[in-house]
Amino acid sequence: LRIDVHGHVSAPAHLWSIRAGLLAARGTHGRPALPKQLSVEGLKEFLNAGGGGGPGGPHLKLMDQHRTDVQLISPRPYQMMHSEKPAWMVRWWTELCNDVVHNECRAFPDRFIGIAGLPQAAGEPLDAAVAELERAVTKLGFRGALLNPDPHENNGTVPPSLGERYWYPLYEKACELDVPLHIHSCGSHSVREPYSMNFIREETTAVLGLVHSDVFRDFPRLKIVISHGGGAIPYQFGRFQAMSARSGGPLFSEQLRNIYFDTCLYSQEAIELLIKTVGVDNCLFGSECPGTGTAVDPQTGRDYDDVAHYIDKIGFLSDADKDQVLWKNAARLFNLSAVQPRL
Ligand SMILES: [Zn+2]
Repeated sequence: LRIDVHGHVSAPAHLWSIRAGLLAARGTHGRPALPKQLSVEGLKEFLNAGGGGGPGGPHLKLMDQHRTDVQLISPRPYQMMHSEKPAWMVRWWTELCNDVVHNECRAFPDRFIGIAGLPQAAGEPLDAAVAELERAVTKLGFRGALLNPDPHENNGTVPPSLGERYWYPLYEKACELDVPLHIHSCGSHSVREPYSMNFIREETTAVLGLVHSDVFRDFPRLKIVISHGGGAIPYQFGRFQAMSARSGGPLFSEQLRNIYFDTCLYSQEAIELLIKTVGVDNCLFGSECPGTGTAVDPQTGRDYDDVAHYIDKIGFLSDADKDQVLWKNAARLFNLSAVQPRL
């Protein structure tokens, strides 16, 4: 079995046209309704006809080619526009994206499980995000949410680190609902650091913000997953380990045991380094397919984002280890049997 914890919704252009309309009028034309193309039937038709993935390829076909049984899907992060104003427009857009994710899950209940986007309007309290997390889990059957560590979207305003009290209402609600928060940065205003670069930097920063804080002491049941293999963490592990040893506190390696990492990395070496660094128990198969990695490697003829293939090839993992990374850790952490008994 293969459960991919890192996927994003595929939808026809109608979804992105709603976003453009909202921005053009700053929401003053009212709250948009979902057109029929974004209904359960509309999305079923779209994906069955090979839609999704843009130039990357059809969403369901890619899942079949990579033998991914189930994928956890969320709104496309770089489209979330958390830094735009007014805040209620951000909330409308997020709720609407979650409704589309929900419809896609209803269209293909055996293939998709929902993960929420949160209306984290920049500079605002987290009340709307807490309410939407609750709606997504209790009303839509979602099993977690993406958390954007920089709602300002790299516009020069520095957000609170993930160790700060600002985030506590969200941590409290995630613990109460017993769902993971998946750290995934969103857009970037910077041309020097476009969103893909910003993901990696923010996700590295997220790990350090959490380990240098009281968060896991205050919320011992909090489940945190970091996207994209933890950014630079596996590669720079020794640097942070040395700092922790010098300070006489708990070792960085011990603190990392509180955090899970997805394997959303597109080379054999990077995935092996991640698993060696944080261990089999803390890794979850994630591919973000279709997405940035959807392209064919000219040297091997395989898709870069056929991430399970890299995991399958790892010589130092037993078959039992591979099962843990490919689905068992995810099924347990996200409590997926709550929505799909066969998991
Ligand atoms: Zn992603």
